[in-house]
Amino acid sequence: MDARLLSADDLRLRPGRGERAPWLREALADEADPTPAPALAGTTDADIAIIGGGYTGLWTAFQLLRRDPGRRVIVLEADICGGGPSGRNGGFVNSWWDEASGLVAAFGAEGARACLEEAAASVHDIGSWCDRHGVDAHYRLSGMLLVATTAAHDGRWAEDVRAAAALGDAGAYGALGAADVAERCRSPRFRAGALMRDGATVHPARLARGLRRVCLELGARIHEGTRVIRVRDGRGGRLRVVTSGGEVRARRVVLAVNAWATGWAPARNRVLAWGSYMVRSEPAPDLIASELGWTGGESIVDARFSVHYLHVTRDGRIAIGAGGGRPGFDGRIGPNFTDDVAAARRAAFAFRWLFPQLRELRLTDAWGGPIDVSPDHLPHVWSAHGGRMLVAAGFSGNGVAPSHLLGRILAARALDSDEPITRLPIVGRPRPAFPPEPFRYVGARVLREAMIRREDAEEAGRTPHRLLREVSRLPRRLGYHLGPDS
Ligand SMILES: Cc1cc2nc3c(=O)[nH]c(=O)nc-3n(C[C@H](O)[C@H](O)[C@H](O)COP(=O)(O)OP(=O)(O)OC[C@H]3O[C@@H](n4cnc5c(N)ncnc54)[C@H](O)[C@@H]3O)c2cc1C
Repeated sequence: MDARLLSADDLRLRPGRGERAPWLREALADEADPTPAPALAGTTDADIAIIGGGYTGLWTAFQLLRRDPGRRVIVLEADICGGGPSGRNGGFVNSWWDEASGLVAAFGAEGARACLEEAAASVHDIGSWCDRHGVDAHYRLSGMLLVATTAAHDGRWAEDVRAAAALGDAGAYGALGAADVAERCRSPRFRAGALMRDGATVHPARLARGLRRVCLELGARIHEGTRVIRVRDGRGGRLRVVTSGGEVRARRVVLAVNAWATGWAPARNRVLAWGSYMVRSEPAPDLIASELGWTGGESIVDARFSVHYLHVTRDGRIAIGAGGGRPGFDGRIGPNFTDDVAAARRAAFAFRWLFPQLRELRLTDAWGGPIDVSPDHLPHVWSAHGGRMLVAAGFSGNGVAPSHLLGRILAARALDSDEPITRLPIVGRPRPAFPPEPFRYVGARVLREAMIRREDAEEAGRTPHRLLREVSRLPRRLGYHLGPDS
């Protein structure tokens, strides 16, 4: 990263510092800054208690109440609903066609096809759900473009494009030449790429807050400012969900706490917390149209491990993220996931590097959050406490659409319903397990440094040191799939 590309304003950007991310500030302002739902006080009974009020918890609550309006469903959220990454992500609503070859290798053609079709269905269902429930989450179905920005990344999509075609859906993911990519968005860094059909974008916080409203209307009890401290076996086959101010006794518990799952025994070695940071520009729709020709609404990602992801918002800003944050240690989700200036600067640098023609455009906001990386780069649903607790985690930075799919699975499982989605191969613990601490943290730090150095060298047109290439490929050799080439 060449910091000389950054403007004085860019260098002044500070993520975090206790402030909410701009998406959530906007969504809350639209609701006239509501008072949070009351914290849980005392002991209460429920059929299903859901821990976590992000997309996964709220989609689960929605699906439960849609299927069985009489169920007593309680959502316990430490902050406010949407206060986590669901209210501050990049707004990509993606299917899994860009994972097609890995899915076939892991689950066989039939298992892969089932996962791919359900993930794609969730992309579309989110749009129709917004229409049906009057949630203006700025949903736009325009596909996702994967682009190479260095020769080392050329053709990284080829196996997935072939796998999608072999599974019988050649239109789902198709290679594009450099001229076709430039037609959609002009960056001097973009080379060839591939277009994924089932991809949309949203205003993330408007979606999270819309879900909260609809769940409340359907009868969910939501307690905000309510951190769950532990879950214990109780009487009569129930689980006791203990918070600082009370307790819920429930027949079933759903743990939907994203990267915070790293602090919970059933998920500790199955997911790794990692930081992702974003910046966004001031609104400039005309400039973006004239300089980049980027008017089709496609979201764009590059083929890095520390991926850059960007889209144009409805009000004509470019929002761009960089997956170059740091890994977490031993289940602690602290300020390195929200206040890491160097990680936010990587996103600002990506913006300046990709779009030198927008040098006058100001970046106005920076923020970050934790993602939950799984050993196979896919989310999973599994159980603990003798099947009474359902755990969902491992979105690996791609959870907006998949959380909808997992919400459907969790609701079906919580109602003991055996259906095609509860038999998907992502139902079951992610494998292999990550090593225990401190080896997990040390390994992740070494991998991050190697990856960033390698990819920065490739972007600058230099050949990375052989050792960096070896280290960055180590995860694959150990049976993990953490990202491209690693
Ligand atoms: C900067 C950034 C950009 C991203 N961009 C994208 C993107 O463009 N597309 C995409 O698909 N994905 C993206 N992601 C990932 C995506 O945001 C997540 O996968 C998704 O929001 C997961 O939803 P969730 O409900 O599982 O988690 P969350 O939204 O994190 O919700 C979990 C909730 O659990 C609460 N919680 C934690 N512990 C407790 C406890 N003990 N008791 C009670 N509550 C608790 C938290 O406060 C939080 O609100 C991004 C993530 C980040 C950080």
